[in-house]
Amino acid sequence: MKQIALFEQGIDPTPIVEMSGDYGDNHYYIKREDMIPFSFGGNKARKAAEFYQEIKAAGADVVMTYGSNSSNHCRIIANMAAAMGLACHIISPEENREILYNTRLVENFGAVIETCPVTEVSQTIDRRIEAYKQEGRKPYFIMGGGHGNPGTRACVNTYREIAAYEEQTGVCFDYIFHASGTGTTQAGLVSGQLLTESARCKNGKKAGNQKIIGISIAREEARGREVVRQSIEEYLGDAYQALYREDALVFTDAYRMGGYGKYTQDVKKTIEAVMAKDGIPMDSTYVGKAFHGMKCYLKEHQIQGKNILFVHTGGTPLFFDLLDKE
Ligand SMILES: *Cc1c(COP(=O)(O)O)cnc(C)c1O
Repeated sequence: MKQIALFEQGIDPTPIVEMSGDYGDNHYYIKREDMIPFSFGGNKARKAAEFYQEIKAAGADVVMTYGSNSSNHCRIIANMAAAMGLACHIISPEENREILYNTRLVENFGAVIETCPVTEVSQTIDRRIEAYKQEGRKPYFIMGGGHGNPGTRACVNTYREIAAYEEQTGVCFDYIFHASGTGTTQAGLVSGQLLTESARCKNGKKAGNQKIIGISIAREEARGREVVRQSIEEYLGDAYQALYREDALVFTDAYRMGGYGKYTQDVKKTIEAVMAKDGIPMDSTYVGKAFHGMKCYLKEHQIQGKNILFVHTGGTPLFFDLLDKE
């Protein structure tokens, strides 16, 4: 099988393993979305696989997206476009132009990076799409972070893999934690749960009962939560009214630590401990920050003796950026 055909056949289920380190009085499992075998994996690779299908179906010849050129999303999309032999055009905010490993990768993939002030993003996107069309080209635009129904659908698959694991092993998770950014991952996990709630675990315990907890890495609670809810509504369509429950959606901003990219020394210590005890790299913008947030959440809510699943959403190149900072 060719590497890029990975996207045609659908992503193989990623491993779920029990963790070895001591992270508190619970049983900790981790789902390795970072091990999706394309461009360092992660949830952006999972989403990209869905967009791959859409790009092919549309017969597009330019893949466009929005995001910081140091983002995991832009790395994956630029890599996928290069692998497909298509041009890639990224609209990037002028602000926050840190050069990270992702930035260098995006440049190596030959993507065109167009910067503009944050306030002019949507006009710039519209203008560029129009310009390509005028030239007789076929652009396909992917929202920042792989937001939108294909991205949500990708993460519904993540939930289905978790449910299948529960069924096969008899292990039922009480909680699922993950880093929540644009909210697409959470929308997918929650939609997946709402769609499969009647399933049962092997041991007779009701499955699909996990509390899914999105740890916000940037957004404040009210807005962050509303974006997730909207994505769920958009994805479920007519089924939304019947299936949606407010209590299925937990989004906490208690561990934002001042916002996007910010983290504390305790986060760094947690990242070092996970690497040392489990050999799993985590970054400080998303995964390590959320894993640390999860530890705090469990402690603050006095949760003990439960089966906890943490979804590792990727971002491996950012792990090396953190190492460079010492
Ligand atoms: C984008 C990203 C997230 C957040 O996912 P959303 O679907 O945007 O909420 C989490 N972890 C990593 C490593 C990411 O790159």
